[in-house]
Order: sequence, then C-alpha cells, then structure tokens
Amino acid sequence: MHIIIIGCGLAGLTVSIALAKAGHTVEIIEAAADISYIGAGIQISPNSSRILRKLGVDKYIEKYCTDPVDLRMMRWQNGQILVECPLKEPAHNDYKSPYWHIHRADLHRGLLEAATELGCKIYLDSRVVKIDPYKPSMTTKNGDTYTADLIVASDGLHSMAREVVMDKPGPPVPTGQMVYRVTLPAKKLQGIPELEELITVPRNNHWIGPHGTILSYLLEGVNETLINFVFTCDVTMAEGVNQKIGNSAEVRERFKSWDPRIGKMLEYVDEVLEWRLYTHEEIPSWVHPSLKLCLIGDAAHAMTPYLAQGAAMGIEDSAILAGLLEKYPSKETLPKVLMAYQRLRIKRAAKVATASISSRYFTQMPDGEKQRERDEYLLSHPGIWKGHMNIRSRQEFLDELFGYDAYAQLEEYFAEQDGQKEEEEISKNVGMEQSSLQSLSLTA
Ligand SMILES: Cc1cc2nc3c(=O)[nH]c(=O)nc-3n(C[C@H](O)[C@H](O)[C@H](O)COP(=O)(O)OP(=O)(O)OC[C@H]3O[C@@H](n4cnc5c(N)ncnc54)[C@H](O)[C@@H]3O)c2cc1C
Repeated sequence: MHIIIIGCGLAGLTVSIALAKAGHTVEIIEAAADISYIGAGIQISPNSSRILRKLGVDKYIEKYCTDPVDLRMMRWQNGQILVECPLKEPAHNDYKSPYWHIHRADLHRGLLEAATELGCKIYLDSRVVKIDPYKPSMTTKNGDTYTADLIVASDGLHSMAREVVMDKPGPPVPTGQMVYRVTLPAKKLQGIPELEELITVPRNNHWIGPHGTILSYLLEGVNETLINFVFTCDVTMAEGVNQKIGNSAEVRERFKSWDPRIGKMLEYVDEVLEWRLYTHEEIPSWVHPSLKLCLIGDAAHAMTPYLAQGAAMGIEDSAILAGLLEKYPSKETLPKVLMAYQRLRIKRAAKVATASISSRYFTQMPDGEKQRERDEYLLSHPGIWKGHMNIRSRQEFLDELFGYDAYAQLEEYFAEQDGQKEEEEISKNVGMEQSSLQSLSLTA
C-alpha cells in the first residue's frame, strides 16, 4: 500500500521504518523546514529497545547508548539515598532487552538514516493544513495535495489530525508544570570531588522533592560524554510560551535549597532549555470513521513525562500497526487492521498515562507526614518487590511495562484470529451437515 505519515518525529520515523520493512511504500510529510535536533536525553526502556533492535535501528544508535545500572531515588535537600531500583540487570536478564539512555539528536538521526536507507521519502517545509479523511488526502501550506491508501498521523502533541479524528477541537491540557533541561560535557565537572560519582557512574539519579524533581544521567555523545539534567517544577513560564532558551540563574534560584551538588553543577551552566509540560485526556478513538486515517504517538496519547514512556508508547504503536499491515497488507483488510490496532493499543497507552500521573504525585510530595511515611517505607524496602508502594520498584508493574513484547502480542492476536476462523469454518460445516441431514430426512 501507499502510506503517508504526517510528522517526522520519533513515532513518525519508527512507524515509517516498520512499514517500509513490511513492504509498503512510505512518504513522510513534515512541517519543519529542516530536521534540527532539539531537546536533551531520552530514556529507552526495554519495551521500546526490543522494537528498535528488531527493526535494526540499534545498528545506527547503539554506540551512543549508555546502560544505567539503576534508578537511585534521593531526598531533595541532601541527596540521602531512599531507594535504588536496578535497571541494567533486570533489563538484560528478565526483559531481554536493554534500558538505554541516549541523546535525542542521536536517536533521531539514527531513525532518519534507517528510514532513508529503506527508501522512505521525506518532504520538508510541508505543514499539513487540511486532511480529507475519506479520500484520504492532505493539503500542505504550500498548496500541494498528497493522496494515499492510508494516512498515519504522527503530528505530535499539538496534532491537527487529532481534531479531524475526534471531529472537534482537542487541544493538549497543561499540567501546571515545566522542565528546565540542561546538557553539558561531563568533563566540565571533572575534578570536583562531590560531583565525581555523577559524572562517572551511568545511572538514573532522581532527587524527589516538594512540587519538583531533578533527574540526571550520562549520555554517550558523538564526541564526548555528556551529562543531562531535567529539573521539573511548577510552571513560571509566561502565558502562551511553550519552549524557550532561558537563563540558568532562574534555575539556581528555584533549586537553591536542594542538594548542594546541584548548585555546584549549575555554576558551570549558562543556558537552559525551558519546556512547558502538557498531557492529553484519553481520546475514545484513534481511527477516523473513514477507516483510512489513524493517529499514532503523541497525537494519539500525549502523556506526562514522569515515567519516561511517551516515546516508548509511540514506538510500541509503530510495531503493532506495521505488524498488522505486514500480515494483512491490502486495502480490503484495512478496516479490520485499523480496528485491531486501536483495540491492541488504546488501553495500554491509557494505563501507562495514568501510572505516569500517579508517579508525579508520589515523587513530588510536599514535606510532611505523608512524605515521611513514604521515605521510611522506601528506606525499609530497597530494590524491586511485588506490591511495592513505589511503582518504579513494583515487580508486577515493571513486568507489565518493560516486559511488554509487541511482537508476542501480535502473535497472540494472529493466533486468536486463526482460532476464530477455524471456529467459523467448523460451525459453517456443522450448519451444512445439519441442513443436508434435514433435507435427507425430508426426502426420506
Ligand atoms: C521533558 C520530557 C522528557 C521526556 N522523556 C522521555 C523519555 O525519557 N522516554 C520516552 O519514551 N519519552 C519521553 N518523553 C516523551 C517523548 O518526548 C514524546 O512522547 C515523543 O517525542 C513524541 O514523539 P512523536 O513523534 O509522537 O511527536 P513529536 O516528536 O512531537 O513529532 C511530531 C512531528 O510532527 C511534525 N508536525 C506537527 N504538525 C504537523 C503538521 N501539521 N504537518 C506536518 N508535520 C507536522 C512536527 O514538526 C514534528 O516533527 C519526554 C517528554 C518530555 C516533554
């Protein structure tokens, strides 16, 4: 089939690669005039690294990935270790795929290389302004019209295709929080004894505090090791501004009572990237009634970043949609494929989005009785346990999140379909036998 993807972000590129590998002709229509890399680090958990590896994207990115040993949660004021949840060991041994940290630029470039090598054609500077979901076709701001057999809209948080699918405006919802993102060469912090561990041990350092958190991890950049920091806090950005370059003085002021190592590190930072955080309420359908247009990635399920799963869900969507279109590649079976895609994805994404919100409140408790109870619990329950109060340490949650195998789910679905077909065949045969018996007794 001829499939057009709207948006060249992480989900758009992953689905393009997966669809091209499944034998479809893929074109990508992107609003940006050129592919520039903004943002900082990204965490790729085993549920999504499994898919990137299966698609062969690891070949392009693996050398830029680090494998964090664990997630270390610490008290905001002094860095007291509250709990350490292993990441590397369970990723390799239990979930059979790594947990990676990578710079977004390296991931995006790797995906782009893979997509272009597979023959996906990309049209830049082509913002889609109108979609006719019944043809289906789309028109760009340049007045060009593109027609396809299927449109996959991966146009992100502020998706215009979402509005077409929902048939009403569906803007994202502000969370009331923002992040400051900082990336700097680790060597800039070399020789400062209190920062030594942060710049040498690959781990997910997570300071948890009232109405905010700080996350830091190492990145294997193209030329050197980088350290990435994400400061999450209540929003102070001016109305109408979603992203901007800011001054580190503001971060220093807002986080001045936190672990003194943070203030020390910030002495070496001038600029920060400010980013307003949004989410989206669960939408009832990811597929337009025409059954020729569907949503994927943030366009379908923009979620809060507190569990670092937004892109992972888009990568999972890609594997499922492309897997279904590999097994059922024709226009005639498209309605069945799109309904199956929605059925297999919508509940999982909603569950992860809900877990992400609960993670916000668990990690951002104001100091007080509840926070003391939480911290005592964490201190007395190190590692990963069944029924753990902290979902990042809760065995059954992690098994469901990181152990998810999109390809196994596809196999299960195909087996279910084959089983149903067999049952239909049997009841058809039984019906035929019964009617021939009836006609026998009538003629007897
Ligand atoms: C602070 C923060 C930290 C995060 N950390 C993680 C993490 O560690 N792990 C993780 O899995 N996720 C994380 N996420 C979530 C992740 O970044 C997103 O879920 C992911 O980038 C969404 O990818 P996407 O391709 O769906 O959308 P986008 O990346 O937004 O891409 C959309 C693309 O569509 C294009 N576009 C938009 N409108 C049009 C149009 N009309 N016509 C043509 N093109 C259009 C845009 O230019 C863009 O290229 C984080 C998010 C935030 C905010």
